[in-house]
Amino acid sequence: MHVRPLQLIPQWCGDETLYSWAARMHRIVGFSVKDTGRLLFGASHAYKEWATSTRFAHFGAATNKHLGNTKSILLQRTVLAAYYPFLRHEQREEFDRCAQTNLRTPWLTRFGMRASTLDKVEMRWCQCCIQNDLANDAMPRWRLPHQLPGAWWCVEHDLHLNKLNPGKAEWVTPLNTTPTSRPLLNNECILALRNLSTLAGSLVGKERVNLVGIKRAVLSRLRDMGLVTSIKPVSSETLQKWFVLTHLAEAVKQVEPSIQSVIERPWIYETLLKRRASHPLLWMMLWVAAFEGFSTQDVIRGFHEPDAMLIWQDDGQGQLWIEKDFQADEKVQAIVKNSKTIKSAALQLKVSVATVRRYMKEAQCSPEHVRETNRRQNRKDAALSEIASLINERHDVTKTDVHLQCKGSVSWLKRWEPELLASIMAKIPEFRDRQCELPLIYA
Ligand SMILES: [Zn+2]
Repeated sequence: MHVRPLQLIPQWCGDETLYSWAARMHRIVGFSVKDTGRLLFGASHAYKEWATSTRFAHFGAATNKHLGNTKSILLQRTVLAAYYPFLRHEQREEFDRCAQTNLRTPWLTRFGMRASTLDKVEMRWCQCCIQNDLANDAMPRWRLPHQLPGAWWCVEHDLHLNKLNPGKAEWVTPLNTTPTSRPLLNNECILALRNLSTLAGSLVGKERVNLVGIKRAVLSRLRDMGLVTSIKPVSSETLQKWFVLTHLAEAVKQVEPSIQSVIERPWIYETLLKRRASHPLLWMMLWVAAFEGFSTQDVIRGFHEPDAMLIWQDDGQGQLWIEKDFQADEKVQAIVKNSKTIKSAALQLKVSVATVRRYMKEAQCSPEHVRETNRRQNRKDAALSEIASLINERHDVTKTDVHLQCKGSVSWLKRWEPELLASIMAKIPEFRDRQCELPLIYA
């Protein structure tokens, strides 16, 4: 493939997206829509790739790498910025490899995490932002923070974002589109949308988020709200009912009714308790809803430092049902382990005995007396087998031999299992023939 580098390569304009740059370039070169696609990406239909491009090899060659390498473009100029921090280690490596080798990659389908309804390819813009561009004699640009999942609000102007769905064959700019009517939202809904959009924007440039910490902090918060208790397993319906009543849910219903079907499913339960990855938008919505009433700054900081959001309760309640193979709550585990009995663990945790039993099974930890019982059984088995092997080895063994040679085992059995010891000893003669003169001496 031979690609001729462009004569003119304008720098990125502010926080514009890759598509925005291409749309600007389209106006500079004055080509047809298809020819611009061929020129920049090596494909006439490149204008359809609103979210990102699959053709970075061509783009890199055409721009002579003046605009950065593929990974930096993906993470600074496309919506992938919001997906990358959520990727698992292997996915991240795969992502880096694809970017490094410039393989033709369907980035959004491959790293956007299924739920296609959430990976929308609409483009969003703010009327005031566009007016600013025009006032600065600049071409209106598509801003990256407005394109991210959950960014339905212009944080700068406190305004809802207009949307444009791809359709016409053109390199469109926000100027070509008509604004939508303003949704009616109360202040709480506005704050929820502002938090969500700010959170989405805060992902740009982040390498990763601490999902385990986020999960723990959300569960702890839900526990504080009384939605998750240690008495019962987490109820999906309770969580759904809670979410519907949040300001965020109300706001989302108005600004993005198309995802209603997704959030009517048991998504909170799945996000918190299933092992499979959830969409970044779901994580963000859950976080914003859970920390409703917090300042935007706290919501954002908490998401990136979730452990700081965690306030441990002394009794460690609510963490019992996190997930099947949890090792999550050391405090609960310590309480169970250090209790004398299951009952006293249950009392301390304010849960039922059955709950503690189930916890013990799942966490594979038990109160002291349970471990004590296990230890005792082991000691008993060892004592019995020591005595049995002595009897097997020597058929003329006497009680005295057992007392002398298995001293420890005998004294342990005498203390803990005296009846068992007596029944074993009863089967062994006091003296053997060779010693039968002894009673005579005494006699
Ligand atoms: Zn704006």
